[in-house]
Amino acid sequence: MRIAVINAGSSSLKFKLFDMQTKKVLQEELIEHIGEKGAKFSSHHDALESIDVDFSSIDAIGHRVVHGGEIFKESVIVDTEILSLIETLNPLAPLHNPANIEGIKVAQSKAPKIAQVAVFDTTFHATMPKEAYMYALPHELYEEHKIRRYGFHGTSHSYVSKEAAKELGQSIESTNLITLHLGNGASVCAIENGKSIDTSMGFTPLEGLVMGSRCGDIDPAIVLYMQREMGLSVAEVDKVLNKKSGLLGICGANDVRSVLKREDESADLAIKMLVRRVQKYIGAYMALLGRVDALVFTGGIGENSEYIREAVLQSPLFRDSKVLVIKTDEELEIAGECVRVLQSRKD
Ligand code: ADP
Repeated sequence: MRIAVINAGSSSLKFKLFDMQTKKVLQEELIEHIGEKGAKFSSHHDALESIDVDFSSIDAIGHRVVHGGEIFKESVIVDTEILSLIETLNPLAPLHNPANIEGIKVAQSKAPKIAQVAVFDTTFHATMPKEAYMYALPHELYEEHKIRRYGFHGTSHSYVSKEAAKELGQSIESTNLITLHLGNGASVCAIENGKSIDTSMGFTPLEGLVMGSRCGDIDPAIVLYMQREMGLSVAEVDKVLNKKSGLLGICGANDVRSVLKREDESADLAIKMLVRRVQKYIGAYMALLGRVDALVFTGGIGENSEYIREAVLQSPLFRDSKVLVIKTDEELEIAGECVRVLQSRKD
């Protein structure tokens, strides 16, 4: 079986073609800076058109879709009705979902006979209990506006949890893990018997850890203060929290590798804050899980930075924990989901 995966970000497009018997990548393309000034491609449509691929040899095309809201608790084959349901979720992920939808539409026009499968970042967390996903806000905000915690990076947490269970020689259904996806965006997930029971990202990917340029957890009254006392607009506050905070806000750089090379006080503080926040989440999730079979590091930082891993593991609470480092593969997870969905359609 051959499965193509399209991961259309706000200004990038990743394409991978897998042979699912061997799990080998047959073709791989990365197009960046789409729609930016002077860029080669002005739209995702043009970018995808430029990829030379024989769609007649492909069994399905898997698409990463960031937000599945409360509607999608599983990956789905996309038809007209499903596509318009995904479109209703655009307000929940205005930067991401429209690009994902554009990717699906272009793929549909290029390969109308091939099944298009939407795989959501949120679905892995659909197993969170209500006490984990509710905010302590007036209930109508949930009822009427679907304001709740959703969680993201689901394909990554799912992929590395299954790989971790294999390494431990256990079935995923009886494995408890804390998975740490530490990249530019970062999140932690508490996994009980293979299922997500809590995660650090919430209504949007802004909540939780200290990230490259996102603040993670803050007192929400800071948002009110910035508007009331500093006169910032909604768009300006959005920019502060998402683009100017995190490591970048603290020390002026968002790339962990470059921050680790520096010896100044602000770089040191930024790393200490990142590490401390990760430790706090691990401790909290240990309390929820009771038994933790392994801590699993993944993502650009988690996979590559021994310094950050060692710093996190300094906590005496984690001294006896088994630690695994597993390279994530979100595209392979999406391709695997396509196979599962196609097979369940046949059954
Ligand atoms: P994204 O969320 O954009 O997919 P990645 O998972 O690629 O991000 O992670 C990017 C982060 O990983 C950057 O902060 C980068 O500095 C960090 N990183 C990559 N390699 C190393 C390394 N060898 N040591 C420390 N940090 C690294």
